[in-house]
Amino acid sequence: MTPLGKALSDRIKSEGPLSVEAYMEACNSYYYSTRDPLGAEGDFITAPEIHQMFGEIVGAALADVWVRAGKPDDAVYVELGPGRGTLASDALRVLRRVGFAGEVHLVETSDAFRQTQAELLPEAEFHESLLTVPPARSLLMVANEFFDALPVRQFVGDYERRVEWIGGHFAFDRDGEVRESSPVREAYASEIANQLKLRGGVAIIIDYGHEQPRAIGDTLQAMRDHAFALPLEQPGEQDLTAHVDFGALADAVRRIGIPVSRVKSQGTWLETLGIAARAMALAAKNPQDTESIAEARRRLCDEEEMGRLFKVMALRSPEWPEVAGFGS
Ligand code: SAH
Repeated sequence: MTPLGKALSDRIKSEGPLSVEAYMEACNSYYYSTRDPLGAEGDFITAPEIHQMFGEIVGAALADVWVRAGKPDDAVYVELGPGRGTLASDALRVLRRVGFAGEVHLVETSDAFRQTQAELLPEAEFHESLLTVPPARSLLMVANEFFDALPVRQFVGDYERRVEWIGGHFAFDRDGEVRESSPVREAYASEIANQLKLRGGVAIIIDYGHEQPRAIGDTLQAMRDHAFALPLEQPGEQDLTAHVDFGALADAVRRIGIPVSRVKSQGTWLETLGIAARAMALAAKNPQDTESIAEARRRLCDEEEMGRLFKVMALRSPEWPEVAGFGS
């Protein structure tokens, strides 16, 4: 049994079954604090790790909105769950080119990831949450595949589904048509909105999920070695995720009084912001990479790859301009 599996089975024996939310929270905090799960040797790959074009387009979107806001010099770059720091590094290269000289604040709970991020971004300051980002800064904020790692609750009818320990295995205590909700994600979205309201700025949220709430559906899944695995096996040794309900996040944000963009698919958004031109420019400079650049663009944008399942949504404080790429 995995070390966390032992701890969780002991906890269930003494406290009774755990909610899916508590199980997912425990698994992911252990998982992220004990390894770097990204890349070929890890369990999964994310858009910024596929190619620098991803971070550059995000950086271009932030650079554009910062310039149109009048280049406020109180603005800082803030990223939630930056992984290896690749997105931050690619985005900041573009931002610095247009004269952005602001601080870099990374919200990251994993010490393993903080170390990697600090090597790539020596200027970065680290935070457990948004609340400690110093006051009187406006925000250029990004979160890629951050929300999907935060836990969901699951219900079968009105019953909250739990994880029990039976006969030497973890098992769900109720099966049937599952509905999900995520107060933790909504609370995080509300916190982002509160900070934007207080300080000004924009936030770009990218994740895999759906826009319309789906009445029914169990989307909890585990990723290990780049393949799907069973969520109740190997606790703490595989990545647990669940689809992000963008509609629910948008509602939470609107309740704070912060404007939310439409939800765009990642492929459409990247194409609208010129990934084709960026790919051509890179290929012209590095002709030997033409095929790998084209392949990366396909992986990021094609509907059968990340293009449709992944979604992008932008928030802004009322006095800031809209982030580009969300028109009809
Ligand atoms: N954005 C990166 C990594 C995605 S993996 C990329 O696209 O490659 C999820 C990231 O969120 C990891 O860095 C993980 O350590 C971090 N994370 C997970 N839960 C968190 C929490 N509650 N607060 C801050 N960071 C968290």
